[in-house]
Amino acid sequence: MTAWLDVDLGAFAANLARVRETVAPARHMLVVKDDAYGHGLEPIVTRAVAEGVEWFGTFDVPTALAVRRAGGAGCRILAWTVYDDADIDRALDASVDLGVGDAFVLDAVIRRARERGLHARVHLKIDTGLHRNGIRPEDWSAAIARVQLGVDAIALVGVWSHIAEASDSEDDAARAVFIAAADEAAASVTPPPLRHLAASAASFARPEFRFDLARIGAFAYGIRPDGGPADELLGIRPVATLCAETVAVDDSRVTVGAGALDGLDSRLAGVLRVGTPGGERTLLSVDATTATVGGWPGARPGDVVTLLGGRAPLTATDAAELLGTIGEQVVLRISPRLPRRYR
Ligand SMILES: *Cc1c(COP(=O)(O)O)cnc(C)c1O
Repeated sequence: MTAWLDVDLGAFAANLARVRETVAPARHMLVVKDDAYGHGLEPIVTRAVAEGVEWFGTFDVPTALAVRRAGGAGCRILAWTVYDDADIDRALDASVDLGVGDAFVLDAVIRRARERGLHARVHLKIDTGLHRNGIRPEDWSAAIARVQLGVDAIALVGVWSHIAEASDSEDDAARAVFIAAADEAAASVTPPPLRHLAASAASFARPEFRFDLARIGAFAYGIRPDGGPADELLGIRPVATLCAETVAVDDSRVTVGAGALDGLDSRLAGVLRVGTPGGERTLLSVDATTATVGGWPGARPGDVVTLLGGRAPLTATDAAELLGTIGEQVVLRISPRLPRRYR
């Protein structure tokens, strides 16, 4: 392989510590959707458990099951999307908590748990304005009443929502709706459910959004928002670096074995500064499976060039800013076929 994603698990551990101290006394739920933001689910979960992370958040149930396999019986896992009864059954069998955002799914979870003599763990989602799944405020009391009638089969472990993190005033309005819903649940169910609302940006910037759990993905991997505070201010650093080996050398340029099909955006040609054994050079062109960069004295096939990320001159977010997109998109575009190398 001439290209790979270098994943620095030490940097990941340092970011986890930074997240933990920032959100305390709230706890960190590590979000691991999209193959842990492209970093590889299994090694990330294994390291996170070793660093004391207790909660994991996934989009779907199959990923939650993979977290259970990697993380063991002790970790707590929330899958926030349920598609069908098979998902519910698999979650019940693996003690995976389910995010539930409508009454129909709530009834299905109660029914499956009751039929199987099991106890489902549910986090009920209130729609605080994004209109992306979630029980609407006018339907919330009815949903809580269903939970109360279903206590033989489900435990209401959490109340949650998702906010846009785009404007403070919209987030404040969402927070007010959220608090009313959480208070109503806490008055109706014992013990009071855990409350979780914020992802990376609001968890760091706004303490009043942390509640009991902060669902943080991006910052744990060192992916900062574009236009936001610098990595140094956040105290995080990028975990991944896209690396490629030199495959050919001629007078003034060097060809490396990573290209557009590996996720290197061709619009970065001419603008991206990359790391070489001879110092920083410019990325000159991007082809399908190779790219060229400015040469350096003594360049040889096998020399390693750092293209993007923590060990490269520019992070994924720096590159995203050059392209006018967001850091996660640059990282996630890195091909899943590229081998991951862990350090
Ligand atoms: C992706 C996601 C998060 C984490 O967002 P980051 O900005 O990466 O921290 C939290 N909650 C939900 C529901 C998500 O989909």
